[in-house]
Amino acid sequence: MTVCIEKIAEMRRLVKHAHAAGQTVGLVPTMGALHEGHLSLIRRARAENDVVVVSIFVNPTQFGPHEDFARYPRPWERDVRLAEEAGADVVFHPSAEEMYPEGYSTWVEVEGLTEGLCGASRPGHFRGVATVVTKLLHICQPERVYFGQKDAQQLAVIRRMVRDLDFPVEVVDCPTVREADGLALSSRNTYLSPEERAQAPVLYRALREVERLVQTGETQVSELVAAARAVLAKAPLAQVEYVEIVDAESLEPVARVEGPCLVALAVRFGDTRLIDNVLI
Ligand code: AMP
Repeated sequence: MTVCIEKIAEMRRLVKHAHAAGQTVGLVPTMGALHEGHLSLIRRARAENDVVVVSIFVNPTQFGPHEDFARYPRPWERDVRLAEEAGADVVFHPSAEEMYPEGYSTWVEVEGLTEGLCGASRPGHFRGVATVVTKLLHICQPERVYFGQKDAQQLAVIRRMVRDLDFPVEVVDCPTVREADGLALSSRNTYLSPEERAQAPVLYRALREVERLVQTGETQVSELVAAARAVLAKAPLAQVEYVEIVDAESLEPVARVEGPCLVALAVRFGDTRLIDNVLI
């Protein structure tokens, strides 16, 4: 039976007891509206830890003023059921007031890595992410914390933060789970109209085209980006925000694909912003 906890003090007590009994804790941070992508993280955590904590918190500080915080889906009962079926022992579900009490004024800022890609169009987003993950790590004190490769920049930011600030936690990354047609699962896919949904697999098709060209020996980033944009242009409803190829660790732009690189893109369908990436 999954336990639902709303208070930080209660969460701390549970973790303290688990550690006192020699148990390991795995944490899966989410914003809810759980899908197979989230569930793959929870199952992995289940396999590797004695106690599995899933946090469900739509974090207000990582949304910009004109973003979708208010309309973000919050199917609470379904989420608890799915988390339980995937093996969660605890769902940590604090209120915004519990996490950010009156007078809250402390922030975690990861420099450099947060400036490009999604950081360029979402100022403050990664500050909100780094801050809430810091708080969740302090509250839950897990041995392992699980993130999806789907949000590659977020993963890079968290890895850097954990290294720089000496968090005693192992960051575990999990592969992107996709629909049969290649669309990466996302809580935001529910915003898509049927026409938009039909065109949305173009993101992954564009990424696959880059992978294919790299396999044929193309290394010039300008050529690869142009090829990805040509694929995206076939979807009339897709408005491209960025297509970039960057160093997989520093996230700095590269001119040629020589070492491990991240091919990342963000595309809007109406008001819905989708992201995807592959490592090459
Ligand atoms: P979110 O609820 O969107 O904040 O996502 C919570 C966690 O699930 C993050 O670590 C995401 O990277 C991960 N995640 C989201 N979508 C997927 C997916 N399609 N495949 C794998 N992991 C995912």
